[in-house]
Amino acid sequence: MNARLRLPDSVQVLERGWLSANNVLLFDGAEAVLVDSGYVSHAAQTVALLRAALDGRQLGRLINTHSHSDHIGGNASVQRAFGCSITVPAGMERAVTDWDEAALLLSTAAQAGERFAVDATLAPGDRFVAGELEWQAIAAPGHDMDALTYYNTERRILISGDALWRDGFGILFADVLGTGDGIGEARRTLEAIGRLAVDAVIPGHGAPFAEFDDALERAFARLRAFEADGARMARNAIRACVTFKLLEVRRLALDELPRYLDETPLYREANRRFLGMEPNALASWLVTELERAGVARRAERWLDIC
Ligand SMILES: [Zn+2]
Repeated sequence: MNARLRLPDSVQVLERGWLSANNVLLFDGAEAVLVDSGYVSHAAQTVALLRAALDGRQLGRLINTHSHSDHIGGNASVQRAFGCSITVPAGMERAVTDWDEAALLLSTAAQAGERFAVDATLAPGDRFVAGELEWQAIAAPGHDMDALTYYNTERRILISGDALWRDGFGILFADVLGTGDGIGEARRTLEAIGRLAVDAVIPGHGAPFAEFDDALERAFARLRAFEADGARMARNAIRACVTFKLLEVRRLALDELPRYLDETPLYREANRRFLGMEPNALASWLVTELERAGVARRAERWLDIC
């Protein structure tokens, strides 16, 4: 349902699943720029997809929207394969340079990554040309406090990362972990991008879409729901992150699940701050939820992805 969505020929979106964020290629003749590189365990697949899409053209630069594992996981492999430079939002430079696995939420959410070096940064307000279009970096704190979105005025395209999807936005980690006001920041971000004229959104996950106002409305409604019910937000975050983990590892041992939930900072904090459940009770709630949603199923001593 992408009514009248037309992206310029110089813009190509490699739509991925959920473990890997979308890869956006912006072509300028024989050169290309890539936005986001997917998850580390998909890196070989990402390189193969890019090689096919580049079709002999040169990948000069890789730019990230934010620092999460599903957006930066392929950075090192893509750089090795194509020799491109890597540009990150200025706010995440330190975390990457120090490879601070807590700040990058890798250790926090029991996710994997591969270290890479930063060649350049972009700050809010900075501009760059890619895909024969000029893009402006716009601050998009909320899901990731240092995230940027990239906006082209002329064709009214917004590369939104995980700040805005067709139905929602990325987990508000700061609220779940108690490290900041993710809800407030996300609201200000949505208000700011809501003032832009946008005909096409290229989200970090899911297909590009034209229905910008609808998406904003749903995102604001979701924020209000999270504000009214922190437990709902926490349950949502646990469900989403365990699903992500299952996409990576395919199965989790059921008898280890309570300990896994209790030892992984994100789940432990989400539970401690909003739910107050015993690890065993949390695990059995989670298994029931994932089975009911058709995400996973029990098979003997395992929880398998469907
Ligand atoms: Zn993200």
